[in-house]
Amino acid sequence: MIRIAVANQKGGVGKTTTAINLATALAATGMKVLLLDLDPQGNASTGLGVAQAARLRNSYDVLLGEASIVDAAVPSRVPRLDLLAATQDLSGAEVELVGYDRRTHRLADALDAVPDGRWDVCLMDCPPSLGLLTVNALVSAKQLLVPLQCEFFALEGLSQLLQTVERIRSRFNPELAILGVALTMFDRRNSLSRQVAEDVRACLGTAVFDTVVPRNVRLSEAPSHGLPALIYDLKCSGSEAYVRLARELIARLPRITPTTAEAA
Ligand code: ADP
Ligand code: MG
Repeated sequence: MIRIAVANQKGGVGKTTTAINLATALAATGMKVLLLDLDPQGNASTGLGVAQAARLRNSYDVLLGEASIVDAAVPSRVPRLDLLAATQDLSGAEVELVGYDRRTHRLADALDAVPDGRWDVCLMDCPPSLGLLTVNALVSAKQLLVPLQCEFFALEGLSQLLQTVERIRSRFNPELAILGVALTMFDRRNSLSRQVAEDVRACLGTAVFDTVVPRNVRLSEAPSHGLPALIYDLKCSGSEAYVRLARELIARLPRITPTTAEAA
């Protein structure tokens, strides 16, 4: 199972929107996808239409070792896309885990226990901080995808994230690779937006995906219907961008074949 953390310690940059819609696009190609909601706000869970009542077992239980991922994951309305939901409880986990063994490796251990072939790819939707939840995601992931909002302080926040990645590589997870940086909420009529996109490309080069996700109101409406934008309105500019981004992402991944094909 390929493990991809979707992280950026800034809030409101498009992590959850990116995680939900890429997960949906990957599932549409035939992969079995697991989306891990690691944000106590549970936006990915809500955005996929998973009600509170269906979050009885969730990412908090998994991190505390009280449930396995296989037992706690629930199906979403999207075929082949399952969710490990989040609840408010998760906000206590950062503090509670401090007293636990292997507190930085709780998620990695839980993912290691998932039987081969259960899912092809796992996307982790991280909270807006570099605390223990995000550290658990980065320790367990092989790949990092960074959504970056096209606004003035975008690069500043990124250097802090990259320092954390360096620390995690040297201490825990030398294989952690940057899969790419995805520019989000791009407004082509706004010269600042264009300037930021140019600066980010000048600074990070090919790490930046060619696809730029535009600011698109359909992307922000979809979660209130409990649907990924890709299903709510496949033809809107935002959905089209996420389909292209998913293609680029697949091209960058180490070769993956759906488990069904692997087993054959
Ligand atoms: P994060 O998970 O980083 O906090 P979200 O994905 O939740 O960010 O996005 C923050 C807000 O912006 C949400 O209300 C979301 O619906 C909206 N949003 C995200 N991406 C776009 C976009 N490309 N165009 C318009 N609204 C967006
Ligand atoms: Mg979010």
